[in-house]
Amino acid sequence: MRIPVVAANFKMNTTVAEAFELVTSMKKRLNRLSGVERVLCPPFISLVPVKEVIKGTSIKLGAQNMFYERSGAFTGEISPVMLAQICDYVILGHSERRARFGDTDEIVNKKLKAALAFGLAPIVCVGETLEQNEGGETIEVINRQVKAAFDGIDAFRDTVIAYEPIWAIGTGKAARGDQANAVIRVIRGALSKLYGDDAGQTVRIQYGGSVTASNIAEFISQPDVDGALVGGASLKAEEFLSIVEQTAKIKST
Ligand code: PEP
Repeated sequence: MRIPVVAANFKMNTTVAEAFELVTSMKKRLNRLSGVERVLCPPFISLVPVKEVIKGTSIKLGAQNMFYERSGAFTGEISPVMLAQICDYVILGHSERRARFGDTDEIVNKKLKAALAFGLAPIVCVGETLEQNEGGETIEVINRQVKAAFDGIDAFRDTVIAYEPIWAIGTGKAARGDQANAVIRVIRGALSKLYGDDAGQTVRIQYGGSVTASNIAEFISQPDVDGALVGGASLKAEEFLSIVEQTAKIKST
């Protein structure tokens, strides 16, 4: 049994006061749910205040990125040691970081190793561009990204994968549930090849890309989809709560 996981990626949105207010407004209903892991990923400067808000609840905290070195002359960066003190999760290899901040497959691999070494649960993002999708390259791209992310990691340790087709992120044009499920199966296959069938069957794989309260059911009712990574819709309390509540309900039946 894989416990679904729904993560809220606030991206570069919300001031500290806004993050505090948003999380405060969702806390009670989020905490009430069982059978689904709930992870909030605010901007770095809101991690500590949000941690205070969710103290004593079962809600988890995640960062949106990190550097792979433990400390040193890396101005502006945040290390796994720092995050491990306050976070449960860290998102790695988000397509916005790959496209705009130079996160290559090699860097994602270093970050994944560092996250695992310091006890952070990683959410590793993979996904193809529209051009790659239309060119029939999706499977090849996904296999390559998964293989590269786990390069040199000899045993599988709890890592969440987020399948996020780039053409669906922030566009309002989500994939179809069956499309997402098919690619997620490919990811299970890639992990089975690397670490054995058990890893392929137990790894939790989310769908991400324009998930809303209106379309979450389509994804979550797919057998291989274990939750969602939610961007824009996580900034609206009612919408995000509905996504998480629907996930809990559908996966418990
Ligand atoms: C994301 O931030 O990973 C994401 C999928 O964004 P959105 O839900 O806005 O498409």
